[in-house]
Amino acid sequence: MKRKIAILGSTGSIGTQTLDVVRRHRDMFEVELISARSSIGLLAQQAREFDVNNVVICDESRYDALADDLKDSNSKIWAGAESLCRLVQGENVDIVVAAMVGFSGLRPTLAALEAGKIVALANKETLVAAGSIVTRTMREHNAVILPVDSEHSAIFQCLLGAQGNEVTKIHLTASGGPFRTWDRKRIAAATAQDALKHPNWDMGAKVTIDSATMMNKGFEVIEAKWLFDIEPSRIKVVVHPESVIHSMVEFSDGAVLAQLANPDMREPIGLALSFPARIPVGVRPLDFAELGTLHFEKPDLDRFPNLRLAYEAIERGGNAPCALNAANEVAVKAYLGGAVSFYDIARINEACLRGLNFVANPSLDDIFATNDEIATQAAAMV
Ligand code: MG
Repeated sequence: MKRKIAILGSTGSIGTQTLDVVRRHRDMFEVELISARSSIGLLAQQAREFDVNNVVICDESRYDALADDLKDSNSKIWAGAESLCRLVQGENVDIVVAAMVGFSGLRPTLAALEAGKIVALANKETLVAAGSIVTRTMREHNAVILPVDSEHSAIFQCLLGAQGNEVTKIHLTASGGPFRTWDRKRIAAATAQDALKHPNWDMGAKVTIDSATMMNKGFEVIEAKWLFDIEPSRIKVVVHPESVIHSMVEFSDGAVLAQLANPDMREPIGLALSFPARIPVGVRPLDFAELGTLHFEKPDLDRFPNLRLAYEAIERGGNAPCALNAANEVAVKAYLGGAVSFYDIARINEACLRGLNFVANPSLDDIFATNDEIATQAAAMV
């Protein structure tokens, strides 16, 4: 029986790499549904190549152009986020790859979990904004979340060897991004073009900027807290420029398990799709003699204040991480458009976090309200 996959955000970096894994294993997987925000050209091409049953364009104004492009195909065309939420719950979907960018991934991910699906989660903002609601929904509906984020996939893989033993620490590795060796003054003047040159990973623009500010690593601390139910104080970030060790788990006897691979997102994607089986996905094997040395250093919270803000937000709990995410989405977009400077991102994030109307146990409505309020505030600061 082929596994039937829905890919939310199929034209983005994770989406296209997921389809590359499927392309190598057409006998194992079938693509039931794909969706994109607005890239209709690539979406139509994917629909034809993979003979996809349902194709969703989230931007409703693009529906006619997409429908016209696919009029001779077998695909059914839909528009809007509501269609997407309904279709991911369909009987013909086994695995939902949540690869949308940002807060917009929350609703369809919750819809998939409510239908008891396996969710291969790449959209970390979903857990940052609404971690308690997302994990509760998963448990209530016997759904499963398999991490696609490389660090969390690594931790998940290390935990397969835990045999129920308590984890004393998680060592979350960080590449350090393109500005790891730059001083604060030089970073302050860095443009989006500088920030988009990530040394190791091939990712979309939002996550690449988040990686340069280390907001990405901060969000990953929050993501790890929810996925593995571990206090943030036991999640240690370590900078590891080679990105070969994708993360590590430590036990009470001092033993540390690590997961290694050449940095290539197809490795965690492939495992999430085929779990518990492992399948070849085109990742170049590690050559340790060629690698020679691996390096580790402490993260610098002075040059990368977003990492400190993430720890503060998750310690505070409630809707604080949601606020941080909302502020950051607006600030990163402004930085990409040249409207604010690199450190303005952290300034906007910090100001929004300080000014937050705190809610200790937010409902889903509270989460949406916080997201809207903070996005408005952050836009005013921009
Ligand atoms: Mg990651």
